[in-house]
Amino acid sequence: MKVVIDQDKCVGAGQCVLAAPDVFDQRDEDGIVVLLQEYPPAELHEDVRQAARICPALAIELDEA
Ligand code: SF4
Repeated sequence: MKVVIDQDKCVGAGQCVLAAPDVFDQRDEDGIVVLLQEYPPAELHEDVRQAARICPALAIELDEA
């Protein structure tokens, strides 16, 4: 799994950080998402999928290939 974030779409809601704190963080200054792991390990995939589902800005794309 490859994770792609779109910082231009992100509205800083922080839902992704709650769902998968090992993969997503937020910039201190404006809350925009920061990707910590582009290729998260298998045990985190379900958390990452959950983050992508609940992101209100649809700013998280997953390449499951
Ligand atoms: S859930 Fe979406 S909008 Fe909120 S911080 Fe994460 S990427 Fe940005």
